[in-house]
Amino acid sequence: MAAPYRRGDGTADAHPVSAAAREHGRPGSADRHPRPAAGRRWLVGTVAGVVLAAVGCGRDEPRPPSSPSAPSGPGFVALSDVDQRILTDIRYATGHNFVGRRIDGYQEPLCLLTARAADALRGVQDAALAAGRSLKVYDCYRPQRATDDFLNWAGQPGQDTMKAAFYPRVAKAELVDRGYLGAPSAHSRGSTVDVTLVDMPAPEQARYVPGQPLVACTAPRPQRFADNSVDMGTGFDCFDPLSHTDSDRVGPTARENRRQLRQLMTDGGFVGYDREWWHFRLRDEPWPDTCFDLPVTRSSAD
Ligand SMILES: [Zn+2]
Repeated sequence: MAAPYRRGDGTADAHPVSAAAREHGRPGSADRHPRPAAGRRWLVGTVAGVVLAAVGCGRDEPRPPSSPSAPSGPGFVALSDVDQRILTDIRYATGHNFVGRRIDGYQEPLCLLTARAADALRGVQDAALAAGRSLKVYDCYRPQRATDDFLNWAGQPGQDTMKAAFYPRVAKAELVDRGYLGAPSAHSRGSTVDVTLVDMPAPEQARYVPGQPLVACTAPRPQRFADNSVDMGTGFDCFDPLSHTDSDRVGPTARENRRQLRQLMTDGGFVGYDREWWHFRLRDEPWPDTCFDLPVTRSSAD
């Protein structure tokens, strides 16, 4: 059976779709069906010449659209237009991610968000800078087709060139069953970010060169990929229990850095996620029930 997906809030409940599925598109073992539930409503229209597909996303039951016509645009903005100070490292537009290539739908290394989420993040950045640090975002709005791409990849044998870095202790074939990949994702609602902290002034970011030797995301910071962020105990998108926000198996510096990030983001109106220290959803998100499939490109912003 395909259970309806519910809006996630990062807390576990009795519903068969796990917190992982609801927050990051990662179903628990009780629900291994990655596709939207049968009968889910798809709304397709054209906005500024770009096909927009919106799907009921993250609630118990589909509900009628607010208007009988196609939905208006989601009101995305480029984060750089709202706050140029926030650093970006949009991994899914590059080969430096767990798949090892650019992900479907990421046409530009751009952070698109709802205007409400971008404004909130600007407020967080003010507070971070006051503490001598900057935000750096790894992912923002994510098209539904990107999640589909993840699942198609996960279902194919081989193509595991990035395993040593991103899921060193999980077999690729188990990524879905163990809850690390699934659908849909809160990111597709446009108000969720994957984010870390960087000391200011920001150290230069090491460049990832495809084919370079890989080090486990669980390795001590001096050994793993030289991200210019502070030590969070693991790399970004590390499919491992060490990424759990409250893990007591990471060192005191990483625990304090995670605490600071969560405090800053929570104060700014975001809700964290207990299984990924980097993942935050705007509490008052404007599209709590709708996933979008616009590509990540500047023309998708208003
Ligand atoms: Zn995330």
